[in-house]
Amino acid sequence: MKIALLGVGQAGGKVADAILDYEAASRVDFVTDAVAVNSARADLLGLSRIPVDRRVLIGQSRVKGHGCGADNELGVTVAEEDIDEVRGAVDDLPVHEVDAFLVVAGLGGGTGSGAAPVIARELSRLYTEPVYGLGLLPGSDEGGIYTLNAARSFQTFVREVDNLLVFDNDAWRRSGESLRSGYASINEEIARRLGVLLGAGEVSKPPVPESVVDASEIINTLAGGGVTTIGYANSRLDRPARGLFGRREPDPDETDVVNRITTTVRRATLGNLTLPANVESTERALVIVSGPPRYLSRKGVEGSQRWLEEETGTMEVRGGDYPIPDSDYVAALVVLSGVTDVPRIKELQQIGAETQRNLKERAAQRPEALRDLVWDGDGEIDPLF
Ligand code: GDP
Repeated sequence: MKIALLGVGQAGGKVADAILDYEAASRVDFVTDAVAVNSARADLLGLSRIPVDRRVLIGQSRVKGHGCGADNELGVTVAEEDIDEVRGAVDDLPVHEVDAFLVVAGLGGGTGSGAAPVIARELSRLYTEPVYGLGLLPGSDEGGIYTLNAARSFQTFVREVDNLLVFDNDAWRRSGESLRSGYASINEEIARRLGVLLGAGEVSKPPVPESVVDASEIINTLAGGGVTTIGYANSRLDRPARGLFGRREPDPDETDVVNRITTTVRRATLGNLTLPANVESTERALVIVSGPPRYLSRKGVEGSQRWLEEETGTMEVRGGDYPIPDSDYVAALVVLSGVTDVPRIKELQQIGAETQRNLKERAAQRPEALRDLVWDGDGEIDPLF
């Protein structure tokens, strides 16, 4: 599936960069063009893969290139005011070669949180291709404002896109690792998952897939909107060292091949979702199995589809393979689309609502507290003028 990629805000730009890194390493072409949008000049300068002429600075007259802080209402305002700049960059895209748009943003901050839904709305208005979002939820230790921002942005973003893929930073922090130092590996993880999903149908050189996951399979899986979570797991192969004369790799046992695929698909589904969710609440699913061709099997993929049908209770489970000859792994990617039972979202909304109440209370008390501070109680001191 060919996408036009838009990274909004700092996290959005960095994740878009990571997806381009993955694409370059995999040598499969699935990003037709990439654009970064930010109100912070320094963050745009910090990007590496997105071409310099595809970086759009918004809000310059208001925030002078310094960003929106954690004010996502300001993020909305600057995106609405400078939507022409964004539209100008998208107009330069070869949209006729694109199957869908993907708008990426961290939902806890200011620019991405506010601007991504505005940009998604504009793309949906202008183009017939589906517009997908990729939203990153903040860690629970980032504080109430970030959580409130994410809860507000999540609601709006889901409404404005054809489907919102969600990645929960909180679920991905390794123990003992701070979120910040973990971002690089988290971004690689996100890129790997998106790369397998989008790249699977774009293999143009042999060996081509036996069962291709083309753009329409992905679009049909994501149809119906709502929220999507993506599972991934891999299993290391014990392959002989390559390049040795006369050593032809023996064919693996067929039952082992099938079993490896089905257990990897189970692990991807039950323990490794980008957003932990109750799999029974899935509306549609898609499974892609990647690895060296001799370790792929139609029987394995079909068996996994049947298992997913039972596990999710949905009859709409698509499947395919993605041959990667040099890989030392068999990997499974599982897309669960339209999930509705997601405890983390409920928690986010609850903490967000509490934070909003506290902020309103404090704001209401403020004028009186300030009056008490500035004016002496007995009115003995006169102001200068
Ligand atoms: P913005 O520039 O105002 O949109 O704000 P940021 O993108 O800096 O931050 C928004 C949220 O994104 C933060 O609360 C973090 O949860 C998250 N975040 C920041 N940087 C990264 C990153 O590199 N990767 C991931 N996965 N999340 C990030």
